[in-house]
Amino acid sequence: MAIRTIIEPFRIKSVEPIRRTSREERQKLIEAAGYNLFLVASEAILIDLLTDSGTSAMSTEQWAAMMRGDESYAGSPSFTRFRESVQAIFGFRHVIPTHQGRAAERILFNVMCKKGDIVPNNTHFDTTRANCEFVGATALDIPILEAKQPSHLHPFKGNMDVARLAEVIAREGAKKIPLVMLTITNNSGGGQPVSMANIREVKQVCRKHGIPLYIDACRFAENAYFIKLREEGYADKTPRNIAREMFAHADGCTMSAKKDGLANIGGFLCTNEDTLAQQEKDLLILTEGFPTYGGLAGRDLEAIAVGLNEALEEEYLKYRIASTAFLGNHIASEGVPIVQPPGGHAIYLDARAFLPHIPTAQFPGVALAVELYLEGGIRSVEIGSLMFGEHAQMDLVRLAIPRRVYTQSHIEYVVEVILDVWRRREKIPGYELVHQAPFLRHFTAKLKPLAR
Ligand SMILES: *Cc1c(COP(=O)(O)O)cnc(C)c1O
Repeated sequence: MAIRTIIEPFRIKSVEPIRRTSREERQKLIEAAGYNLFLVASEAILIDLLTDSGTSAMSTEQWAAMMRGDESYAGSPSFTRFRESVQAIFGFRHVIPTHQGRAAERILFNVMCKKGDIVPNNTHFDTTRANCEFVGATALDIPILEAKQPSHLHPFKGNMDVARLAEVIAREGAKKIPLVMLTITNNSGGGQPVSMANIREVKQVCRKHGIPLYIDACRFAENAYFIKLREEGYADKTPRNIAREMFAHADGCTMSAKKDGLANIGGFLCTNEDTLAQQEKDLLILTEGFPTYGGLAGRDLEAIAVGLNEALEEEYLKYRIASTAFLGNHIASEGVPIVQPPGGHAIYLDARAFLPHIPTAQFPGVALAVELYLEGGIRSVEIGSLMFGEHAQMDLVRLAIPRRVYTQSHIEYVVEVILDVWRRREKIPGYELVHQAPFLRHFTAKLKPLAR
């Protein structure tokens, strides 16, 4: 019989100790932090699932490549290796390095958009939306309807609603739409993938109206693997070939190398258009740096050049997707409400369904995140009423899985902690705000538990 156990496709050469705290210590720490996990020091966290961004473990090959980093201001061979690695996968004519994804977004929107424009996207990530709105354009989210129902199972819940895209173009006119974007996987929509068929259909609509298509490529490798697993005709293709096919439909992309670049910092912007590339490089020099380093050290460019290729390795992707799915499926089978199906980089707990006795005004997402910390030293993040105020459509708690960092037993530990909290959920109190900043309040808010 074939062996079916999926294992971490690496062994560990350098270890970083994590520290256990007692429940009493955690109680004191979280109280001092105003029940806000952003304000707890990372040394007091046992398993940190706050984000998968910039938290990846680098490989021996990445560390070796970093030693080759050439720190010349102009014309560094590290840039050549970076550009060749990006072009071999993404296929675009121009590759512009940036210090992270949002810098690529800022430059793209500055060059392509003006006040009154509209940018349709399956779902804008928060920095994408902010950079789009900063130049006076409207960031329009048009995911398929299934994306809004947490428990609905759909293999490509990240897809864009193509009929709505056509409608928006017909109503507003193509002149008001300088570009269309597709976020793969759809981070804000639960890490859900976009199908190749959807990319193709979106491109067809764009082509008909002469509108360029850009891909927000942060989790391109995870998206490619979902296509391999779930879309007809792709089972025998490599993630690399699938990725190349995805990008062949696009005119450019933005990328945060802190996700599927397996690097701790970095990003890039790509385009096929010569004049745009020139304008983008001019802006790059103003705020990021010369076009052969763009705000990064030569060694960072080297780490990304290697990381992009490692993120496409099939054994790695198999372990990555299986590990996230294990967490999601295991707790869901015990009744814990999650956004279905499990995404690529994270599991999202549905806090309103988990804690139905806590009204949204008392922050059920915060209540659940605090409990996971108290119970097991796990850090997650609330994506709900604290983050978005009254506009929040859902109260979710995101457990983002850093790449190549935690082992199966760490994930099993997380499952056990969640199930313990689930069993005593009726005793969990709601929260009230005692301090808030005028914007992005979730980073600094202070709260206190209500009597229960
Ligand atoms: C992280 C992210 C960004 C922004 O990248 P940063 O490197 O954090 O600036 C943009 N889009 C998506 C989908 C992301 O996940």
